[in-house]
Amino acid sequence: MKTVLVTGGAGFLGSHLCDYLLAKNEKVICIDNLFTGSKENIKHLFENGDFKFINHDIIDPLYLDDVIIDQIYNLACPASPIHYQLNPVRTVKANTIGVINMLGIAKKHKARIFQASTSEVYGDPLEHPQKENYRGNVNTIGPRACYDEGKRVAETLFFDYHRNHKVDIRIVRIFNTYGPRMAINDGRVVSNFIIQALQGNPITIYGQGEQTRSFCYVDDLIRGIYTLMNTDNFTGPVNIGNPNEFTIKELADLVVELTGNKSGLIFKDLPQDDPQKRKPDISLAREVLNWEPQKQLKEGLRSTIDYFKSVLSYEK
Ligand code: UDP
Repeated sequence: MKTVLVTGGAGFLGSHLCDYLLAKNEKVICIDNLFTGSKENIKHLFENGDFKFINHDIIDPLYLDDVIIDQIYNLACPASPIHYQLNPVRTVKANTIGVINMLGIAKKHKARIFQASTSEVYGDPLEHPQKENYRGNVNTIGPRACYDEGKRVAETLFFDYHRNHKVDIRIVRIFNTYGPRMAINDGRVVSNFIIQALQGNPITIYGQGEQTRSFCYVDDLIRGIYTLMNTDNFTGPVNIGNPNEFTIKELADLVVELTGNKSGLIFKDLPQDDPQKRKPDISLAREVLNWEPQKQLKEGLRSTIDYFKSVLSYEK
């Protein structure tokens, strides 16, 4: 039985990953500082003898000398623009000091380590769709830089530990992902639109809504991450995302159609450095991991809408 560490394990993606790993009979140590993660996401696991939760910030040293760690999934970092910009220096610390701490554990335990990288390493891309060999267009001094540059240097650290200390690394570049357990206050587009629609409020479109994103359902993403982690002789980085591209206006129309919201749309200013388009080229994931997303947007939105309906009715 493998013992795996999941940092950010109480977050949206992390908690789904914990569920998936436990279902695969792995022992899970979940680390989270609960800044954006929540105990609500993992409370169903507290009775499980193979699951342990430690409230800890990866920026601080972590000693796990009483266990042998086989694998580490490093997901710890706020991922929504409003959250990673709240304390940008802390975001950089999570991706530098925090990542060095986790790589140190991997080195000591001879554990394979996974990094949750991001499509944000491509910035506002000048190549479309984005392939892994595209080096990106990031504004180093903009409001998104703490996350984008943080995630870029995290990839650098992973490869330096790999070259210099033979640490066994895996890197996925995650494209926009959505699904149940996104936080109500997350601020990202899918959860914002669904919550606004369910509450009968107008949907807030930033800019004209002509910018595009490609949305991946959480279950597809988790399967991709797990497949990479358990594939030999391939470090990545590899894009994992759904290549079906939508404008933000199209997404709003779809949410309106599925919820029957009649409050219309309102247009607000486009945030600075908001990428104009984004779509993964997933040929590498197809070829090496035999991975392909299965759930398309409409179906995934239905499940996510059902989730938010139950959360919002519970909150009343
Ligand atoms: N967006 C929007 N309305 C919202 C939230 C986001 O129009 O209420 C837009 C945002 O400007 C961006 C896209 O939706 O162009 C995706 O934003 P999100 O924060 O989900 O993720 P990003 O891909 O920008 O990191």
